[in-house]
Amino acid sequence: MSVRIPATLIPGDGIGPEIVDATLAALDALDVSFDWDIQQAGLAGVKSAGDPLPDAVIESIRRTRLALKGPLETPSGKGYRSSNVRLREAFKLYANVRPARTLIPGGRYDNIDLMIYRENLEGLYMGYEHYIPIDGDPEAVAIATGVNTRQGSRHLLEYAFEHAIALGRKKIAVVHKANIMKALTGIFLDEARRLYKAKYSDRIELQEVIVDACAMKLVLNPWQFDTIVTTNLFGDILSDLVAGLVGGLGMAPGANIGADAAIFEAVHGSAPDIAGQGIANPVALLLAAAMMLDHLKLQDKGDRLRKAIDATFNLDQVRTGDLGGKADTKTFTAALVARI
Ligand code: NAD
Repeated sequence: MSVRIPATLIPGDGIGPEIVDATLAALDALDVSFDWDIQQAGLAGVKSAGDPLPDAVIESIRRTRLALKGPLETPSGKGYRSSNVRLREAFKLYANVRPARTLIPGGRYDNIDLMIYRENLEGLYMGYEHYIPIDGDPEAVAIATGVNTRQGSRHLLEYAFEHAIALGRKKIAVVHKANIMKALTGIFLDEARRLYKAKYSDRIELQEVIVDACAMKLVLNPWQFDTIVTTNLFGDILSDLVAGLVGGLGMAPGANIGADAAIFEAVHGSAPDIAGQGIANPVALLLAAAMMLDHLKLQDKGDRLRKAIDATFNLDQVRTGDLGGKADTKTFTAALVARI
């Protein structure tokens, strides 16, 4: 009898349950057996437990250390912090891994295959912000403090070097702004150089690129990059830029890796404008599930899923409406399952 892998499943809001259903069908077809603990979060969490991130969700992930998550809406108004940020903090999810690969050839950028590793806990995202009042204007000056630590930088950099090398990647670009933010991003660059020299120089090539130049180079000639590792804010921006090169956020998966757990998700949101219509594109979450299989050392299954997506898109020409196709979510999923 095969072992069932314990994992938390968060269907999420909007199109979340629809794309989760498609992903479960694909995992079934791959013959991977999960023991899902289904938990509600986001608006669904507010409805069921009065909190977008109920304690039961945290307890479940603490136990399983693994989650597949649909998009979560943060209720508007004061008093609610983003559930995604709370999950990152609760499980010290220090590495955000965002691959970008051309899935449908013939667009503006063919043959893109890039990995981005983004520091997920520090930098300007810590939210240390305040105003200084001057002359009766209570918000005359806004101040934000970024915090990067040597240890936090090292955590992410080590993960990025190890993971990129394991994937057979050839080059890794450390992206920074140490010419201007000498301390805040200098510490990250410094740690990258130190680690590289100590442990990785014989296994992968290191590039150093300033973030503004990196953005331009990615648009002019993305093929000059292989793997990018960077701090929180730069990673947030560059990973969306790179997703844009390969067809947008609708196809972008993400992994949040931590010391205590790993959470896999689509990068896009809950798409309330199309929720309930059965027309959502499930590919971003499917690719996140493939990353989860890789993480579980089931790379052969992850590869099978990626190949089946490729065949459904390009051999069968079955695509959802957002990609110019005619298939609804169920039709796409049936074609995909037939390819697995
Ligand atoms: P969105 O990504 O939900 O939607 C942007 C546009 O892309 C919409 O037109 C939508 O229909 C389309 N789209 C997105 N995913 C699609 C898919 N899989 N198939 C087809 N079309 C798709 O962004 P938004 O409207 O800014 O955000 C909606 C909600 O989602 C907000 O409450 C936001 O906070 C939340 N959100 C959650 C996450 C997350 O949990 N990781 C990420 C981003 C946004």
